[in-house]
Formats: sequence, C-alpha cells, structure tokens
Amino acid sequence: MRINKLILITVDSLRADHLSCYGYHKLTSPNIDELARRSCVFYKCFSTSCFTYPSLISLHTSLYPSMWSPSINHIVPTIAVLLSKLGFTTIGIHSNPFLLRSPIPQGFELFIDILQGKILKHKVRKRNESKHRKAWKITFNEKLRRIEKYIKGSRILYRPLAFIYSYLVLTRGGDKANGESIVNYVLELFEKINEPFFIWMHFMDVHYRYNPPDDYLKEVHGKSISTLKRAWLYSKMKFAKLSESEKEAIVSLYDGAIRYVDKQIGSLVKFLKEHGVLNTTYLIITSDHGEEFGEHGDYGHFKPKLYNELLHVPLIIYGPGISTNEIRCTTSLIDLAPTILDLLGIKKATFMLGRSLKPIMEGVEEDRPAISEIKDLISYQDNRYKLIVNIKTGHKELYDLENDPREQNPITSSKLVKDYEEKVKKYLLMRSNMRKILFRESVRSRIKTLKLSRNV
Ligand SMILES: [Zn+2]
Repeated sequence: MRINKLILITVDSLRADHLSCYGYHKLTSPNIDELARRSCVFYKCFSTSCFTYPSLISLHTSLYPSMWSPSINHIVPTIAVLLSKLGFTTIGIHSNPFLLRSPIPQGFELFIDILQGKILKHKVRKRNESKHRKAWKITFNEKLRRIEKYIKGSRILYRPLAFIYSYLVLTRGGDKANGESIVNYVLELFEKINEPFFIWMHFMDVHYRYNPPDDYLKEVHGKSISTLKRAWLYSKMKFAKLSESEKEAIVSLYDGAIRYVDKQIGSLVKFLKEHGVLNTTYLIITSDHGEEFGEHGDYGHFKPKLYNELLHVPLIIYGPGISTNEIRCTTSLIDLAPTILDLLGIKKATFMLGRSLKPIMEGVEEDRPAISEIKDLISYQDNRYKLIVNIKTGHKELYDLENDPREQNPITSSKLVKDYEEKVKKYLLMRSNMRKILFRESVRSRIKTLKLSRNV
C-alpha cells in the first residue's frame, strides 16, 4: 500500500538530550516517548547549523546552508515544491516571521503564520519578498522586537530594557503563537485537507523566552515561577553571570516548555488515532537546532557555535511499515528531505545532497558523518571524533566524543587533527564546486527562460 500522507513536526530549539526518550532525567515528553516506542528513533542526529534560518533551509532543500542563496531558488526545489508539483496538498503552519523571508514558503499551497491568536494567511504561489513584507502585520510584539534589536548594541542599557521588554512580552502570553493554537488550527482544517498531503508544523514554544503555563512547569520543577522572575532571568541570559539557582530555573522553564509542546503533540496524535488516520500517515518529529545552558559559557542560541548542545536534535520517524528501531550511528538532517521523498515513493531532486535514511531504518549499519556550518565555522563529526575549524582564523578543536561527549577537553594529537582536517578540506572543495555548479545552472536556466519568453 502506497502511503501518501506525511506530517513533519519541527520543534524550534529542541535539544535531543532533554527529551525523556533520549535519556533525560526528568519526564519532559511522555507523549513523544509513547510515539517513539513505536518508531524508528535516531539517537545521534545532528543539525546542519545552530540557527533557525540556515538549518531549516537546509532541512527543506537538502543543501548545506552556505550553498543556498536566493538566486538559486528557481533551480533548487524544497520538499513542498516537489510534492505540490506531484499533486500533494501542501500546508505549512508556523509562528516565526523570519521564515517568510526564506525560500521555505515556496510550494506551500497554504503557508500560515499564527501569531498571538491572529491568523495571517499567505497563499504562496511563488516567492515574492515584497508581498510577504506587506502581508506581515506589524503587531505590538513586532515593534518590541525591533526595539530589542536596537538595544542589543548597548550592554548598560540592555539589562533594564530587556527586562521591561521581556516582562511586556510575557504578560501578553509570549511573542509567538503557542503550540495549542497551531494544533487546533490543523485539527479544524483537517477534514478539508485533500489527500495526498504534506503538512509541516513548526512549534516555537521551546524557543528562547520559554513561557510554559505554570501547570507544565510544576511537572518538571515542582513549583511555579512568576512572570516578573521569568523576565528577570531572560534579561540576564545574554550577557550576565548566572547563579546556580538561576541556571536551574532557566533550564526548568525550558523543560516546562518541552512538557507543554509534548502535550500538544500528544493531542495531535490522539486526534489522528481517533479519526483512523494515524496508521496510514507518516509522522516525523525533529528540531532545527538545540540550546545551550552554559556548557560553553553562554545561554540560548545567540552566538554562532557548533558544539553539540546546539546541534544534537531528535529525529523520530513513525509510520506504517516502519519498524521500531534504535539507530545509534551518526546521521544528519541533510538526509531528511530525501528520506521524506523516499518514504512517499518519490525520487529526490537533482541538487539534493543528502541520501535517504530508509536503508538505515531497515537495518543497514552505516555511519554518516555530520557536517555543520555557521559563518566561518565548520564542524565534521562521526561516531568517534569531531573537529571544529574556523576557516578564517585557522583555530581548530578536536574532541573524542566517546570519552568527552560534552566537548570540554580538546585533544592535541596532531595525526588525528590532520586526518580530520583533510575531511573538512574535502568538504570545502565539494562546497566550492557545488556553489559553482549551482550558480552556472541558475544562470543557464535564467537564459533559457529569457529565450523562451522572447520566442513566445
Ligand atoms: Zn530555531
């Protein structure tokens, strides 16, 4: 039986090791755990970058972030572009204004930004930035976001202003739509969605300025934290030194947010089950990147870094015909787009660099090194070692992931460093060749279109 329904769930900033099914000591994800027990779970999956925008572009195109540029959109399709051409109903639901400026809306018949309970619909036929900008309603919170951008430059002013800003945002229920409104939107729409379909849901609840309802926080923290205290903590997260109890409170707020989003995913699964759709639908849960809690000196995901607290993401694939499996080899989200297409019986697009994970899911043991990048940093990791290189300064750090999984003590063996440096060099060569090819193809296809339109 050919399955033609797929729901992709990405939870922004969700690091894998804070899910109980990935071994976390608190019960943060009972509903995801339940699904994971019946799924193929990738225990060592890494994102291609540490920020939302590059990581999600990569996830949707199967290109490394630095290979993409707006000029190649017309030759590099996203998953949604390919599926919509094949007759799939494609729906994207999120609450992240930055996504409107990415190539991701392409191919989605309906791309919905849910913010503060207001639903902004964009019927996206082709990418048109100015249209998106016009469509983007400037809400109170968006104005505040702009003020924050301005005050980031001043550390003296930053703390008091960030406190006021955070307090105002939190008292208004956060600056992103909550998971419940995203799930409710899908449930209301569900009856009207024609098969085959591809639905992408992007949750922002676990993103910085985590604001879980008290009930969920109490589940993981035992007590509530007032809005005033939350605002105080968030004003300290970027530059200030945090005490142990402050660290614990911030991590608990993050965990409470996971507990909350887990409940929403549970509601979605329950709905699919009750409507008899769960057994005929693929459900994939992953994230765009992680979050750091002082492991390498900072909090959140504000600075470009490639340590695994920022790269290690969950990947859970559930669906008919997918056997329960625990995958312990290294994998990368670069492979997710080809995997989604393969599950739906579709060949990947020419420029997709990843390979389907289906053989691994079916038992083939294969370690696929994960490459990640942000600005001048590149990391290359396999099951044992990881090298992080700054290609501008030449600074290198090599870690033995088996004995030092938290990447605290770089090893100095010059032989090993050299070996891994060679692997990064190979990637850099491939990256530069790929950029040339993409650029050439992009120009060629533009000329072709030009000639065609002249002929017409
Ligand atoms: Zn993100």
